Amino acid sequence: MRNRGSSASSFATARAIFLSPHYDDVVLSCGGTVALLADQGCEPIVVTVFAGEVPDEIITDFAKWKHSRWGVNSVEENVTRRQEEDRDAVEALGARAHWLGYPDAIYRGDRYLSDPSLFGTPQAVETGLVNLIADEIRSLPEWDDHGTVFVPLAIGEHVDHQIMFAVGRLLAERGVRVFAYEDCPYAIHTPAGVERRLGEVAGEIGPPMPVAIGMMLERRIEAIFAYRSQVPVIFRFTTDVPGVVSDFARKIGGPLGPAERFWPILGEAATTTIGASVGDHTRQIA
Ligand SMILES: [Zn+2]
Repeated sequence: MRNRGSSASSFATARAIFLSPHYDDVVLSCGGTVALLADQGCEPIVVTVFAGEVPDEIITDFAKWKHSRWGVNSVEENVTRRQEEDRDAVEALGARAHWLGYPDAIYRGDRYLSDPSLFGTPQAVETGLVNLIADEIRSLPEWDDHGTVFVPLAIGEHVDHQIMFAVGRLLAERGVRVFAYEDCPYAIHTPAGVERRLGEVAGEIGPPMPVAIGMMLERRIEAIFAYRSQVPVIFRFTTDVPGVVSDFARKIGGPLGPAERFWPILGEAATTTIGASVGDHTRQIA
């Protein structure tokens, strides 16, 4: 909070809109900054984009397998539970939750039928989604031309995260102030993925900006546990969730104490692709 460039107050000029591909991404990745901005009166909102429902009759075996891992039997049960958890988590940070109607990648027909495809290159047919989502974000009642938008950097390469990064790039190209956040827990369990993604988007982002979150680290951890159905799955690489989240935040912050990192997206560097090719598919922790 003391050093230049390390305070959330540089985001705090107007409305902060945090875009979450799925129900938990913003809270997992940068919940401390959401809580800081809420405390500063910025009334942040957390918008989950791929929150739509589809009929059970059309879901694939891959989606059913995902459901079994999450302990749910239907799309409706999954969406209802995830929205309850998300409301609890986001409200614990002092923010408000919004959900848009785009279906999660696992519900988009037969486009993504395995983890390797889910963490690969977005299908070309989905390029149009980027414009559609960007326009919907700009038509939100809370939209403020002078506000700040946060999107995932897409560490881990989940296709929905890559699409949201492309939405951020498009908004930046149109003059909006956009920052990319560091996707957790991908960045925690696969540090090489951070370097890999930074290499892919080099030239499209500015230097990283750590935000000291101090006591808000505890608020973030508490909010993470609101995702009761997800925590055992997404943190299956550890038995000490508070420990790994705290250690990572302290490692990022160094002398600042616990921190979260953001990269400004440079508007003039926008390109037309929504993904970069992925050479290996070893990232199995979703
Ligand atoms: Zn996600």
